[in-house]
Amino acid sequence: MFILAVFAVVVLHELGHAIAARQYGIKTRDITLLPIGGVARLERIPEKPAQELVVAVAGPLVNVVIAAILFAGIMATGGFTPMGEFIREGPEVGGTFAERLFAVNVGLVLFNMIPAFPMDGGRVLRALLAMTTDYVDATNVAALIGQGIAFLFGAVGVLGQNPWLLFIALFVWIGAAAEASVAQMRAAIAGLPVRRAMIREFTTLAPTDTLRTAADHIVRGYQADFPVVEDGKVVGILTLQDLLSGLSSAGLDASVREFMRTDFQSATPREPLDRALSRLREGECPVMPVVDGERVVGLLTVENVGELVMIREAVRTRHEAVPKPLGESPTDALPGAPVR
Ligand SMILES: [Zn+2]
Repeated sequence: MFILAVFAVVVLHELGHAIAARQYGIKTRDITLLPIGGVARLERIPEKPAQELVVAVAGPLVNVVIAAILFAGIMATGGFTPMGEFIREGPEVGGTFAERLFAVNVGLVLFNMIPAFPMDGGRVLRALLAMTTDYVDATNVAALIGQGIAFLFGAVGVLGQNPWLLFIALFVWIGAAAEASVAQMRAAIAGLPVRRAMIREFTTLAPTDTLRTAADHIVRGYQADFPVVEDGKVVGILTLQDLLSGLSSAGLDASVREFMRTDFQSATPREPLDRALSRLREGECPVMPVVDGERVVGLLTVENVGELVMIREAVRTRHEAVPKPLGESPTDALPGAPVR
């Protein structure tokens, strides 16, 4: 019953985020419950810092409200158990059901208000910083502070031989790095259309090709996932995973049609890259065909977009170091840029 109650509290916390986000027209895709808490996957992060602040605070605020109600209830029914009886040796914790649930809610508020990603406090900190500086810089500073805190946790965990603290330190460290890279990526591809990031040189397969042909292409080239084209139209995708499972179950002479997947997403060349990319990330297919009318004109993969981001970052760094000549933008050095 107690564990169920804790899960209910975590769900309510995440619902707090979800309801706040909905005020700004942002839907929540799903809520995942993990042993260390929940994650509400929002459709997008609110762009205005003030909105992100509200969404981040809404979760812990739910716990504050629950704690306040429990507190009132406990006080009305004879007050708290003395501390000495509450904390006992070992994993056993004393106190009544309501008292333990109160402690959980206070703990959740304190834990979530640690100013480090991926806790809510990290988002609060970023939102506050973003009010005075730009989003990527704010994220980088917040991530740096988060990693500093993670380092402290780690040091205390090692000195105090507390594996739980070490685990949290690792969790925070990874969360901070991930958040910084997502923000960097978002800024680097903002405003770009899909055609600027798509792979233009690629091989296609026909549904009647054998798996042997696909295997040959993989060994000879760089490509691992192939669009399957029939009468000039994409009818499927054969990923490396599909090929391997086809080879092990049916051998080299089986046809591509049998093992290609037909439930795949596609993008158009003029579509905003960030939108196509989030569709690609959500799906299970590692590659997305870019279609113009019915013709496949490119492929989109997360790795390729990552390469574009690295190139843009490198060019941008150089332009920050060297004064920028007139009429030249950092993107001009890139494939797909207009020739001036
Ligand atoms: Zn939260």
